[in-house]
Amino acid sequence: MNFNRAVIKVGSALVAPTKTGCSGQYTLAIAQFITKCQQQGKEIILVSSGGVAAGRSIIHHGSPELSIAVKKAMSSVGQMKMMANWQRFFDRPCSQILINQSDLENRKRFISIKETIQIQLANGILPIVNENDTLTSEDLTVGDNDNLAALVAQVCKADSLFILSDIDGVFTKDPKVHSDAVLIPDIEHITDEIYALAGTSRNHLATGGMKTKIQAAEKAVEHGINTYIVNGTKSEVFASLLAQQNPGTRFAADKDIIKAKKHWLKHTLKSQGKITLDSGAVNALVNKGASLLPSGIKTIEQHFKAGDAVDLIDHQNNHFIAKGISLYSHSDLQRIMGKHSDEIAIILGHNQSNVVVHRDDMVIL
Ligand code: GLU
Repeated sequence: MNFNRAVIKVGSALVAPTKTGCSGQYTLAIAQFITKCQQQGKEIILVSSGGVAAGRSIIHHGSPELSIAVKKAMSSVGQMKMMANWQRFFDRPCSQILINQSDLENRKRFISIKETIQIQLANGILPIVNENDTLTSEDLTVGDNDNLAALVAQVCKADSLFILSDIDGVFTKDPKVHSDAVLIPDIEHITDEIYALAGTSRNHLATGGMKTKIQAAEKAVEHGINTYIVNGTKSEVFASLLAQQNPGTRFAADKDIIKAKKHWLKHTLKSQGKITLDSGAVNALVNKGASLLPSGIKTIEQHFKAGDAVDLIDHQNNHFIAKGISLYSHSDLQRIMGKHSDEIAIILGHNQSNVVVHRDDMVIL
């Protein structure tokens, strides 16, 4: 269960377990896990709930039933606390991205969010996303962030989505009621029976709990993203994930989607040029799932435009190792090949991307 780019969704119960403010009780272990992933070269985007819970004790409310306006006010002040609570565990900078699901339906906003996250990841920043609660037109319901995380995973082209909460995963029966309930490690297809196992149905009005997690998984797997529900209150869960073992329930990505894209790249798109790579780049592409950087390029053949497909060849033995979409034209590449990505803007006067062929747009042969 290896992963290279993951969205990690953390629920309010982990950020503010006592509902009186943020705590490091669970977030410390989560932050340590994220740091280890980053050290291994993995890219992580965090979707964190907890704004309302963190702001609860700051806004006078009087009754346990909170109005929407009061919840928004709490979320807005709690968001600052929540961000500060995360940042204290990271040496690297964190960024705050507040979005609403409707933003992702607007193409310009979608691209804007995607580019912001891409540039931040390339700069070693941890993007932390939450719903922009002040601007939501509806009630703030627990579970919105499960669905938001699935959408963010699509925007970032993540290969995995981890939904962290205080439950181990999906069980054969309700584990709170039945002592013989068994955790289901793998779910290949999300059917009505799966919703029923979670004590809900596709059309049930309940929010939060298992239903929105399964909904999120359904959205993500359709886009080729493996989705995991794991217990973020247990530190051994993170040790398992780092050892590439599944400690919870895994919903398998729809393999047809991945196959269809690879098939299109491999068979339908015609290569317009050739790029030969040094052995470091070959190793990074083949063994580490990395993107191609200008520094790994030895030679460029034929004339191609940015956006054209190119063959990627091992310079040492002339083996055809991959095919992908070049983000730069052959003439731009002639000028930046062998250089560090930081030099692209100085040499070309613009920086389309730090990578020449992104691994999302590449098929290893
Ligand atoms: N955006 C809400 C908050 O920060 C949480 C929504 C959710 O948990 O799904 O409190």
